[in-house]
Amino acid sequence: MSLLVKNIIPVLDAKYFGIDPEAIIDAVSIDSRSLQNGTHTLFFAVVGPNNDAHVFIDDLITIGVHNFVVTHIPEKCSDRANFLVVEDTLDALQQFAAYHRSLFDFPVIGLTGSNGKTIVKEWLNFLLSPDFNVIRSPKSYNSQVGVPLSVIGINEKHNLGIFEAGISTISEMEKLEKVIKPTIGILTNIGSSHDEGFENLEEKIKEKLFLFKNTAVLIYQKNVLVDKYVSPKTKAFSWSFIDESVDVFVFKKEVENKNTKLYYRYKGNSYGFEIPFQDEASIENAISCLMAMLYFDYDTATIQSRMALLFPVEMRLKVKNGINNCTLIDDSYSSDFQSLKIALDFLESQKQYQKKTVILSDIFQSGLSNEELYFKVSKLIVSNNINRVIGIGETISAFKDKFANCVTFKNTAEFISNFENLDFANETILIKGARSFQFEEIVYLLEEKTHETVLEINLNAISYNLNFFKSKLKPNVKLMVMVKAFGYGSGGLEIAKLLEHHKIDYLGVAFADEGISLRNGGIQLPIMVLNPENTSFSAIIQHQLEPEIYSLKGLHAFLKIAKHKNLKNFPIHIKLDTGMHRLGFEKNGIDELIATLKGENAIQIRSILSHMATSDDLKHHDFAVSQIELFDKLSSRIINELGINPIRHILNTSGISNFPDSQFDMVRLGIGIYGVSNDATEQKYLENVGTLKSVISQIRSIPVGESVGYGRRFVAERPTIVATIPIGYADGISRAWGNCVGFVTIKDKKATVLGSVCMDMMMVDVTEINCVEGDPVIIFGESPTVSDIAKKLNTIPYEILTSISQRVKRVFYR
Ligand SMILES: *Cc1c(COP(=O)(O)O)cnc(C)c1O
Repeated sequence: MSLLVKNIIPVLDAKYFGIDPEAIIDAVSIDSRSLQNGTHTLFFAVVGPNNDAHVFIDDLITIGVHNFVVTHIPEKCSDRANFLVVEDTLDALQQFAAYHRSLFDFPVIGLTGSNGKTIVKEWLNFLLSPDFNVIRSPKSYNSQVGVPLSVIGINEKHNLGIFEAGISTISEMEKLEKVIKPTIGILTNIGSSHDEGFENLEEKIKEKLFLFKNTAVLIYQKNVLVDKYVSPKTKAFSWSFIDESVDVFVFKKEVENKNTKLYYRYKGNSYGFEIPFQDEASIENAISCLMAMLYFDYDTATIQSRMALLFPVEMRLKVKNGINNCTLIDDSYSSDFQSLKIALDFLESQKQYQKKTVILSDIFQSGLSNEELYFKVSKLIVSNNINRVIGIGETISAFKDKFANCVTFKNTAEFISNFENLDFANETILIKGARSFQFEEIVYLLEEKTHETVLEINLNAISYNLNFFKSKLKPNVKLMVMVKAFGYGSGGLEIAKLLEHHKIDYLGVAFADEGISLRNGGIQLPIMVLNPENTSFSAIIQHQLEPEIYSLKGLHAFLKIAKHKNLKNFPIHIKLDTGMHRLGFEKNGIDELIATLKGENAIQIRSILSHMATSDDLKHHDFAVSQIELFDKLSSRIINELGINPIRHILNTSGISNFPDSQFDMVRLGIGIYGVSNDATEQKYLENVGTLKSVISQIRSIPVGESVGYGRRFVAERPTIVATIPIGYADGISRAWGNCVGFVTIKDKKATVLGSVCMDMMMVDVTEINCVEGDPVIIFGESPTVSDIAKKLNTIPYEILTSISQRVKRVFYR
């Protein structure tokens, strides 16, 4: 892409204000974090329900970005850059993508459905790319933002597009259709998931079918509702397991080892092929791919040979602990240019180490000549400040001199035999390669070997939940997020980094050493310490933490140190006890507090706060209101008598939900961002953040009368298949979860905990589950949820989350 700013103005119907209408644009971005060398980038300041990218523009201009699509020009920014002013920046991004799409004329497959979109897209890419230059959505970029960004990646060399579209409510698909303009439609499994945004299944199907409004053909599993709404211009190309009238009738499935043989009738003849999967979803997804191959007239032999090589699709960038203090970003299943860009952006956002290495295989299907491609790759590598490139493959080896610090190997085996000489230590390593290079072997070498239980933390879900709560705040109300107790067990530093990016106002921790470790990790946000011990005051001052002062004794002790250090206006926070009776100045201590602080300039009261005892329980509504009223009264008195203007705050998560009129100047959000609410309706709007996972160590069958575990507390009443899982009470699984009280999830099915939970292991019933040793086990996550477990164990989600021991590895992903 190469366009002049002046030529983009009419495309977006924009008003132009700026410095250089002749400026060249060769890329677009919506992500302020990942913009380096952005001179020729057009930045769309997208405004979300709770997020507004306009706030980043000032900073972006400072680092050299000069072209912006905005709804208004932010203060102090005019005369410093080009601004295209539009009514809605997201609409403008879509308009821009639609314009870009209109410049190309080749087959484009549009995919939608409730399940399987991304897998079918990745498989089709694999199945068709030997014969086409494919452009496809990277990862699961299928949203109102992801789709335009994907489509903008099209260039002259591509001759087939595969784009997925995901929607959550009505009227969204029409917009995506305009951007993708598919010529071939594929409807994947329509399921019943994500139905909240729709009245019913019919409405959902109708909306999804908008994508196929102008396609020449629609590939789908025969379904009466689909038939009812499919446009008359579109030719149906349907398949079925039961209805023989369809184009492709799948009449037989044979399951064998881990494979499935599928037999189908097409144009009067019978054929068969085999896939290396057994589950229903994979079978349906493979049939969707078969249909596309038949539509493109592939012969049976090619279909058979390629289908046999289908693979599990890993969509996420995974962050793992590596050997010698390294951090790994594992993206070892794809190597196209767009996903390389995403992975490098992600690498850039990991600020833990200065040193960054990329292990990269040959890149396929870029649509560019190798010369152009590796020129672009090297530009990307430089702009992302990568210190070292390790190239693996014949092609990348041939372009070695395009990179500053680069070693190359012909293949993965050669890399592995030289592994010892490569000195991986104290760095972040991105591992990115095409499937055929089997980079999983490299990941295996580099990964720190610990036991197989991990707590996976979905960072996107945290952002999502944060934004949900932000949307409840009145204008100008500040936000403190509590990251005490290691971020409620989810990982303090990583979450603090994410929150800092989201420009929240304050972090809150319980103890000074938690704050110190955040400072050591590079966090610069103001940090309030809820419960500072007097012995920690020096360290608090040294690390610019801000203590909560809750007693006269503490105040005097802090003042003494502050004066000794000659501090002026050091920020402190005054805690009032309005009924919780835990920490804080009581009503009758206020006079002395005021007397002590009058004229005192070593410290400055940055905020006054109190904490509610019953914000989560409307049974105690009157008590809660009395706390709020008392807080208002006492804090007003302090403010008036001292003539100060501090931030006032009393609400925690459930306070935000239940007492929206008492936000004062700030709220203190805690468990909400970790995806837990005690309100059932609100819970539906939050995303699950943590998934505690393990694997099956061993499986055995026991006959009736045999027992399981210590004390023989489970005795089999039927022949029972028992799976052992390497997680126990030392990892934070309550013993009360044993003896058929609790369950884990294996292959989407419940497996009851048998007998006592041991220190490092527990046993579960898998009699009715088709599983093998090594299969993944979910202890909590989507099901059971942390709240489910808490309820059954008669406790609260806070305790479950914070009990997960530090020996359980935390893995973060987006
Ligand atoms: C933990 C804590 C919070 C946050 O509470 P949540 O219920 O997790 O939102 C707020 N304020 C204080 C003083 C806390 O200790």
